[in-house]
Amino acid sequence: EAEEREEFDVAVVGGGPAGSTAATLIARRGHRVALLERERFPRYQIGESLLPATVHGVCRLLGVSDDIEAAGFQVKRGGSFRWGTGPEPWNFLFALSPQLSGPTSYAYQVDRMTFDDILLKNAARHGVDVREESTALEAVRGPDRVSGVRYTGPDGAAREISARYVLDASGGSGRLSRAVGGERTYSEFFRNLAVFGYFEGGGRLPGPDRGNILCAAFDKGWLWYIPLSDTLTSVGAVLHRDQAARIQADREGALRDAIDRCDIVREFLSGATRVTEGTYGEVRVRKDYSYANTRFWAPGMALIGDAACFIDPVFSTGVHLATYGGLLAARSVNGVLSGDLDEARAFGEFEARYRREYAVFYEFLSAFYDMDQREDSYFWKARKVTGSENLTSMEAFTTLVGGAFSGERALVDASAVSERFSASSAQLADAVARTGPAQTHSGERMNNLFGAPVVSEVMQEMNSIQRRGVTGPGTGEAPLIDGGLVPSADGLGWAEPDA
Ligand code: FAD
Repeated sequence: EAEEREEFDVAVVGGGPAGSTAATLIARRGHRVALLERERFPRYQIGESLLPATVHGVCRLLGVSDDIEAAGFQVKRGGSFRWGTGPEPWNFLFALSPQLSGPTSYAYQVDRMTFDDILLKNAARHGVDVREESTALEAVRGPDRVSGVRYTGPDGAAREISARYVLDASGGSGRLSRAVGGERTYSEFFRNLAVFGYFEGGGRLPGPDRGNILCAAFDKGWLWYIPLSDTLTSVGAVLHRDQAARIQADREGALRDAIDRCDIVREFLSGATRVTEGTYGEVRVRKDYSYANTRFWAPGMALIGDAACFIDPVFSTGVHLATYGGLLAARSVNGVLSGDLDEARAFGEFEARYRREYAVFYEFLSAFYDMDQREDSYFWKARKVTGSENLTSMEAFTTLVGGAFSGERALVDASAVSERFSASSAQLADAVARTGPAQTHSGERMNNLFGAPVVSEVMQEMNSIQRRGVTGPGTGEAPLIDGGLVPSADGLGWAEPDA
């Protein structure tokens, strides 16, 4: 059959944050990029709570900061947690203190329909050929590499794009990722199910914490409470996967039951009504299992965002990892297309940095779950790390996803935390150490974690992405990976470190 075939330098599949980020940053270097998106935007997505590195770093590199600012999203200064041993919520602030608000010490809570649409339109504005209602079917393989993608357009006709690179940013449920080989490995430790909906008129935390995400543990799991505007709140319960059948049978009842079991959220919602119409009217269920693919790239193709890996939502890392992965992949593609780098070196850097970031957050979240220890709870017992077989499976998984932590965890002296961090990268660590659970056993584990050099480096990396966004190109960065590369002066490629 005669099929329409076009040529591009790069085909990106998926118009979420990962795909829009990669496509825009490659187009900014003058390459021809097609982006295929199955839906017509704006479309719904969960994942509303962002981190500063996305807002101030990646969004500025994308040239989309003004649009983001103009959208009027709820400002988020940090997270509040009813978690661990004490009954009072404690704060995890992006700044050292709420009074000390630096230029990048906040993020946003976003309605993803609007946020993702802004990013996608911005990609088009930068020259990306954005094709909505276009579904990728499979990767096309040449003799020794992926060489394009087959898809159907809005008219249902099959088409093909030939490209030097295909980036799979199609999220967690696609099959395209299989084309890189390897397999998807799931963590035994995080196997949860989330049920979520939207409320009008819910209460707010006081003062500067008003825009924070609130995460509140209760006997059967934990709830998120995300203020999306002055009146609209996203509320979701993360529950044990064993309850899947019960939850699916009565989503509203399951969400209501979780809220009723959690004092602080129940009180906040006592005068609120659940939205029952429009996009926000549905109570939805999602698995939030954590996984990583054993391979992130193969010649001609790379995976970014949920297509590559996903971690539990408690610390709002999904969009950060998606946009970070998009940035790293764009640098590698740009480096190869400009003839500066060979593929293995460029994508080796992509994968090493990406896995490292993932592994650190993974470990961090495991420690975080470990803080809430309720002996009588099935949910929490299954997530207790110390002295249980979970440790083995968790370590095995962490080693698999990057090995960033093997051997590091035990080496660290908690009292050295503040010395190990530069003032800027100490923001997160210090906030936790001071306001929260530092006195408890699990607080110690958090402190140990923050003191580990690799965590410090990941936070420095987040800071350097932010700094680049705010102050423009930086120079003189050291490689993150031994023998590795550093970002080029424009931030859109890789360079050899200064000798
Ligand atoms: P997506 O946003 O999923 O985008 C993928 C796009 O690809 C979609 O638009 C889809 O239509 C398109 N697509 C799929 N298949 C095809 C195809 N074959 N052809 C063409 N297009 C295709 N993250 C946070 O940062 N903060 C949070 O608070 C947070 N909370 C979460 C809560 C839950 C319960 C869950 C499950 C996740 C949460 N996340 C959160 C994670 C976040 O949702 C994801 O990590 C993020 O959306 C990943 O972005 P992405 O660009 O990789 O994929």
